[in-house]
Amino acid sequence: MIEKVALISTGDELTTGRTVDTNANFLADRLFSAGFEVVAILVVGDDRERIAWAWRQAVDQAEVVISTGGLGPTADDLTTETVAEVFGCPLFLDEAVAEGIRQRFAAMGRDMPLNNLKQARFPRSAVILPNQLGTAPGFRLDVDYQAGRRHLFALPGVPREMKPMFVDQVLPWLLEHRGSDIAYLSRVFQTFGISESALDELVAGVVPAERGRLSFRAAFPQISVRLTVHGPPERAEREVAEWGERLRQRLGAYCYAEGDVSMEEVVGQELRKTGWRLAVAESCTGGLVGHRITNVPGSSHYFLGGVVAYSNEAKKGFLGVQKETLERHGAVSVETAQEMAVGVRERFAADLGLSVTGIAGPEGGSTEKPVGTVCFGLATATETFARRYQLWGTREWIKLLASQIALDWVRRHAIGAGLPETVRFR
Ligand code: AMP
Ligand code: MG
Repeated sequence: MIEKVALISTGDELTTGRTVDTNANFLADRLFSAGFEVVAILVVGDDRERIAWAWRQAVDQAEVVISTGGLGPTADDLTTETVAEVFGCPLFLDEAVAEGIRQRFAAMGRDMPLNNLKQARFPRSAVILPNQLGTAPGFRLDVDYQAGRRHLFALPGVPREMKPMFVDQVLPWLLEHRGSDIAYLSRVFQTFGISESALDELVAGVVPAERGRLSFRAAFPQISVRLTVHGPPERAEREVAEWGERLRQRLGAYCYAEGDVSMEEVVGQELRKTGWRLAVAESCTGGLVGHRITNVPGSSHYFLGGVVAYSNEAKKGFLGVQKETLERHGAVSVETAQEMAVGVRERFAADLGLSVTGIAGPEGGSTEKPVGTVCFGLATATETFARRYQLWGTREWIKLLASQIALDWVRRHAIGAGLPETVRFR
């Protein structure tokens, strides 16, 4: 039976605080969702004795150990040789992997530094886990340790190489060798605009506690809700589908996507469906809304362009905001936001004009308009909307949150949901 997993993250960059250990975070999340218990996460620097210590601790506590890092070509990458030493498996050079590394360098027209061959060495009897995105393959090593049979996985530290290796090669192996026919199935929904505690209340009772579990994860500015169901495979499949639908309905317009999908991608999908073309007028977000929209491939189908109108002159000159509006209500006001949205829509001959103007801070706030005051506008051929929100946080947070709200307005308008009175995160 495989139930318990221990994680080891290796690298001086982790113990000196230069890099956040996102690998363990990712692995723990995926393992938990798949029904494995992560019993420990150990973080050690690039030091042979400490790495050996971590592996000994790990195999004492868990049937499976998954390590990331320390597989690079340089002298400070020590995972492979330390594992070989601790578990008494001498290293061998895998000719096929060595040849692959040589060819990779040849294809780039570069000479291969000899130390790269280090990445073709593995503990004897290890199963090599190919790495499609880098030179360092990982490996699996099955050993009989004092406490019993142990399955050791070593993966590279680079997150974009490690993640697909885990998802495609490690997790399927674990599921197959788990030794029980209980399935763990999950669905993840992305939400925005509602706080974690309000979400918790909103979805209360959707899932019977004995067979399913809801977990929330806040990754500013969105919060994801994961439904995990366990039981005999067929039943679990039926329940995850049924309860997932119930959950999605309960979340309503707060839910913008299922799975690993960003708000800007959803906005793109909705604009393609409606055939609407969008133009944006940005002040405090400084182009972030346009940047996010254009991060999506194919955005030219629905995004016409934008104006970063930071000064009053730009708001007047490029967007046609009235001098009197600015004097009477100020640059951060629903009146100005509205005129910006109408102006940018007309000037780009767009179907939708979207605007953001606010005070990102830390200076520039007043009692009437504190830092975090942000106004949004949306103009269509027949209607205009404008609203003021009180946001919070650092300058960066306010900008990011403002861009998210702006995108969410487009999404909500496209699906015929109302625009929110307030926006919350915590
Ligand atoms: P390595 O496999 O040790 O050569 O790791 C290569 C790079 O991956 C490091 O320089 C880090 O930038 C990154 N990395 C390693 N471990 C982690 C981790 N636990 N979380 C996030 N990034 C990591
Ligand atoms: Mg390293």
